[in-house]
Amino acid sequence: MTTAASACSPPPAPSVCSVKTPPRLQIVVPCYNEASILDDSLDQLLAKLKALIESGWIAADSAVVCVDDGSRDATWDIISRRHEAAPGQVLGIKLAANCGHQKALLAGLRLAADMADCAVSIDADLQDDLAVIDGFLEQYWQGAEIVYGVRTDRSSDTAFKRLTAEAFYHLMSALGVKIVFNHADCRLMSRRALQALFEYSEVNLFLRGIVPLIGLRQATVGYARRPTSRETHYPLRKMLMLAWDGITSFSIRPIRMITVLGFIIFVANIILGLRYLVLHYLGHTIQGWTSLALLVLALGGLQLLGIGLIGEYIGKIYLEVKRRPRFLYEKVLGAEDKPTPDPAPNPGP
Ligand code: UDP
Ligand code: MG
Repeated sequence: MTTAASACSPPPAPSVCSVKTPPRLQIVVPCYNEASILDDSLDQLLAKLKALIESGWIAADSAVVCVDDGSRDATWDIISRRHEAAPGQVLGIKLAANCGHQKALLAGLRLAADMADCAVSIDADLQDDLAVIDGFLEQYWQGAEIVYGVRTDRSSDTAFKRLTAEAFYHLMSALGVKIVFNHADCRLMSRRALQALFEYSEVNLFLRGIVPLIGLRQATVGYARRPTSRETHYPLRKMLMLAWDGITSFSIRPIRMITVLGFIIFVANIILGLRYLVLHYLGHTIQGWTSLALLVLALGGLQLLGIGLIGEYIGKIYLEVKRRPRFLYEKVLGAEDKPTPDPAPNPGP
């Protein structure tokens, strides 16, 4: 189901809705070196919260959760100051080290899973139009447990970012990964969906691949992506790493492709071998070293590629079996009890 993000109007009458009372919403914002824009973004987010509370869409104890992902600038000072000014509305998590966007987001969602009825995740530079939250809540009131923000207009992105991002979504689909096209990490999740998310304990985290696996009732809302007011914190290297995590965490098709390729080459070699045998008995000497050298090179290269690829997957298994925590809290502001640590304790047999 797709709707466009609409202006904030009163919520539908509880009698026609799955949700009966305004939910406690937490907006989770991962922040890495965001001192230059964070005050401005928080002003906009708090104004949005106020409007949503006043119009009855969300509960009065809704809040913004800022997750400082090991920033080296004044990001945490700003979060602390804003928490002191509005303790119920701005909550803060300081992670012990920089863990990357996905894990920082997960740390914020952990707090929301403990405290809120639903959570919206959004980037600190507010490139994702805040009006999308209205559409999310409309869907939530109608019973959706996961609502994806889908970028319908990416004209503010550079041509390179647009092309590489779209190529990535196509590649993921081709590899059989269930992924929502043009959806990044701007989404709403109900408490039930959040709790289900923490049943997935993988360290190689690619939330866009995990969330669709949860199931429950899902919906999408379209919105336009705005230009950012600062340099990206997702340079090409990080984008490629995330894409690689996405592919190798969700698809074993690359390994299967190597197997198929190996099989084709094996069959081709038998045919070629028979041809040379026939030529030999017909009295022709085997021609040229070129074909031989090419074959040796092609096979050597393919074998190395195959070993490397399998090594990548074994590396992932190695990282997963250690079950290291995906994030560690240094400080938490505004939550009476510390949120559940990660990884969640094993329930045992
Ligand atoms: N971010 C983070 N940890 C990192 C890098 C980025 O928490 O190591 C956050 C960043 O503060 C922002 C979000 O991830 O809220 C997305 O970053 P950015 O807007 O730079 O990415 P882009 O929009 O260019 O993809
Ligand atoms: Mg951005």
